[in-house]
Amino acid sequence: MAKLYFKYGTMDASKSADLLMTAHKYENQGKNIICLRSSLDTRTEDFYIESRALTYKHKCFCFDKDTNLYKFIENNNEGKINCILIDEAQFLTKIQVIQLTEVVDFLKIPVICYGLKNSYIKGKLFEGSKALLYFADSIQEIKSVCHFCDKKAIMNLRIKNGKPILESETGNTVVIGDIEEGEDYFISTCRKHYFNPFK
Ligand SMILES: [Zn+2]
Repeated sequence: MAKLYFKYGTMDASKSADLLMTAHKYENQGKNIICLRSSLDTRTEDFYIESRALTYKHKCFCFDKDTNLYKFIENNNEGKINCILIDEAQFLTKIQVIQLTEVVDFLKIPVICYGLKNSYIKGKLFEGSKALLYFADSIQEIKSVCHFCDKKAIMNLRIKNGKPILESETGNTVVIGDIEEGEDYFISTCRKHYFNPFK
């Protein structure tokens, strides 16, 4: 039975590496997959999924908020796609997540989504993650460790000009960042260190 999977983790939980290893396993068995990635993520070269943890990269299609993913997959299906892998799934819209449930239920293709659960804004989930938590058949955590201690990281903390940013005036969850030294960046933390990062 095909299922909709949501594998979530914090920013440095090696989600893309997990996706690439899954892609490799399918293709090693001669199976066909489609990789998709949000065009909102500008960290990597267009049309590739890459990971800091691996040298291996994989071609992908990019989608934006207006892409009808059911139609896209139906048009690219030809009855022989074994799995759909989606990176940066937090950027999906709720409508696109529902389209993915239709891919699973009617086209009978498994869909594995990788993404963040929590946005940097205190108490706020990404739209795509919220819909996936609601609709997915299987939800799995990819674990990582707090930047400051040895507890599990569950939060994505935004640091701007040396200060933690837990709110947004616009309420916009989408800030594209990477774990780098700089003026505006993200780190993965436990809950305590999200609220008290430098204590
Ligand atoms: Zn901590």
